[in-house]
Amino acid sequence: MKKITVAIDGYSSCGKSTIAKELARRAGYKYVDTGAMYRAVALYFLRFNDNIHNNPLVASLELTHRDKECIIEQLNNIHISFLPTSDGQHTLLNGEDVEKEIRTLAVGNMASQVSTIKEVRAFLVAAQQAMGAEGGIVMDGRDIGTVVFPNAELKLFLTASPEERAKRRFLELQSKGEHPVYEEVLHDVQERDYRDTHRKESPLRQAEDAIAVDNSDLTREEQMDIIMHLFEDHINI
Ligand code: C5P
Repeated sequence: MKKITVAIDGYSSCGKSTIAKELARRAGYKYVDTGAMYRAVALYFLRFNDNIHNNPLVASLELTHRDKECIIEQLNNIHISFLPTSDGQHTLLNGEDVEKEIRTLAVGNMASQVSTIKEVRAFLVAAQQAMGAEGGIVMDGRDIGTVVFPNAELKLFLTASPEERAKRRFLELQSKGEHPVYEEVLHDVQERDYRDTHRKESPLRQAEDAIAVDNSDLTREEQMDIIMHLFEDHINI
């Protein structure tokens, strides 16, 4: 049977990774979470730059020109890979399992900032294209259907209201032992949406040939049914 490329894009916290992971599992495909790659670059930078790392305001810090140069200089020292696990996969930064550390609000916010840097995007896009060169892959992110795999056979664009996404993110953070404040999480979601859709480099947008799925009022199972049908239609073309 034909092994296709599935590109899943959408706003932050709209459940892309859960859906992409499950689709990859059912299809027997490779799964790549590109957000985790931007997060790993952000974590590398936060660790590399102690001043920023120790700054309690890190979540709202804006990168300076010098910060950006520092990240670009370090790119060749960053190697990101994925380790398959029973619950999906863990992200490795230079061989170290950083799965837990990259999921905090502070790292997510820094990821959204480093993702505006052209050189960071070129570096990660090349790595993503190499990972998916042979097809049989489900990749999720913001620019997969528009930039990384513009010829992907199946492109999905997931959406949900900001309030619904903030609620899901809030519960997820709580389940990880963090103590989030709902208003702050909602603010973070809105800020990230703005940054992702307004940045100069590869802004988040729905590819013309992508199929939009609004999951605000869908259960995970309902959504999986819709997506599995679309997938099956596409592998039989
Ligand atoms: O998806 P996730 O929230 O883990 O992504 C973290 C950040 O990385 C996003 O807010 C976005 O700015 C950036 N990103 C991106 N392009 C991708 C994946 C993520 O710019 N393909």
